[in-house]
Amino acid sequence: MKPAIGLEIHVQLNTKSKLFCSCSTEVFGVAPNSRTCPVCNGDPGVLPVTNKAAVERLIQMGLALNCTIAERSIFARKNYFYPDLPKNYQISQYEEPLAGKGRLDYYSGGRVNQARIHRVHLEEDAGKLLHAIGSQTLDCTLVDFNRAGIPLAETVTEPDFLTSAQASDFLVTLRATLRALGASNCDMEKGEMRVDVNVSVSADEKTLGTKVEIKNLNSFKSVRDALEYEITRQREAVARGEKIVQETRLWDVKKAQTVLMRTKEGASDYRYFAEPDLPAICVDEAWISELKKNLPPLPTQKMEQYQNQLGLGPNEAQALVFHEDAEVARLFDETVKLAGANGNAVGKIAANWILNDLLGQLKTRGLTVAKSGMSASRLAGFIKLTEEGGLTSRLAKDLLNKMLDDPALEAAAAFKESGVQLLSGDDALLPLIKKAIQANPKAVSEYKAGKEKAIQSLIGFVMRETRGQAHPQKLQELLKKELTP
Ligand SMILES: [Zn+2]
Repeated sequence: MKPAIGLEIHVQLNTKSKLFCSCSTEVFGVAPNSRTCPVCNGDPGVLPVTNKAAVERLIQMGLALNCTIAERSIFARKNYFYPDLPKNYQISQYEEPLAGKGRLDYYSGGRVNQARIHRVHLEEDAGKLLHAIGSQTLDCTLVDFNRAGIPLAETVTEPDFLTSAQASDFLVTLRATLRALGASNCDMEKGEMRVDVNVSVSADEKTLGTKVEIKNLNSFKSVRDALEYEITRQREAVARGEKIVQETRLWDVKKAQTVLMRTKEGASDYRYFAEPDLPAICVDEAWISELKKNLPPLPTQKMEQYQNQLGLGPNEAQALVFHEDAEVARLFDETVKLAGANGNAVGKIAANWILNDLLGQLKTRGLTVAKSGMSASRLAGFIKLTEEGGLTSRLAKDLLNKMLDDPALEAAAAFKESGVQLLSGDDALLPLIKKAIQANPKAVSEYKAGKEKAIQSLIGFVMRETRGQAHPQKLQELLKKELTP
């Protein structure tokens, strides 16, 4: 039985103010109901005004997802009663969304897949209920309207995913795309990205089965787990001859199962009608081409750039472009720019340090890039020093750790503090080189016979003698000179 999975993704658009009023969108960690006004509180007699920045973010999103942008689109009232909704309706888009059919290529299982986008529309967020049930001092539910009116983009895909992994990989690509655009930070912990999935299984491979929706998944892991569970549940039910009921379910993380929330309401339950308080959004060609011109490089372009211009492998490029921590790709880009004087190899060198050492250290220390204080200028300084000084990797790793221990420490100071003095003078190195040549006659004759690699055992000899403190480039230079008749 073949599953078909579709996604509905809400992301918070990056704007300073809310969608229809001038209240700030900085709501994380602030006092409840401190970011509200008569408009977003839904007081009688107020009029909303559409935030142009939110419209532009959504158009850019539409362009990045290869959608058609509607010349004219309207807002609609979605009517429903719930205590987190101050107006008792949500301003959304229904029949005429701003962005229509599109497509996003995403990386999954080492290849590029394609998913069709059904639509992307603009809508406002609702408030948040805080259930204090069981609290010693409060036995009630509180409401915080700070989120009410925050601009959201809702992306709806076609049911183009066959596995939970494909759905999750699509989300990774979407997140990187929106971050590259600056359209949304997509921080799931802050509720800036929320995912609903719909899934059906079909016995005859041709038609779609009855779909079940699972709402409010707030991590990619939950998306995968909920889909796995639901696909199995539906397959077993169909195998028993039961009918799948169209309904909305929730993912219970603790029990690791989906549970019934409500039987599905239809669109007619919402009594949609055109929002009478807002004019239509009219977008002309000039506006679209202006926004198109300002689109930054998107993940697929960055994948190509990293591989073709910086010489990274596909896995390295993917690990940087799609990293969960958006700062990783930014750190890489800026570091390469700053340390670029060293030539083309710097991309590969920076990728190695970030992926193999820095991220490992940050994981051990429980830090993000932002919290670690590892800026691009410090990392570029470190790379320059290790490359120009030809430091051994052990010494370089020690330096990096020192710099992570003390976020104020620059690479040069860390090196000075380490007390290591690289031996680079002829006086210091020549006697050791002669000793190495005497002790390794086999390697010497192999090298002279044309086996370049044989020089490594001579270098290794000197490095052991100096406990890694010989200047590698200088050492190699002198060795070659000594071995050349
Ligand atoms: Zn407001």
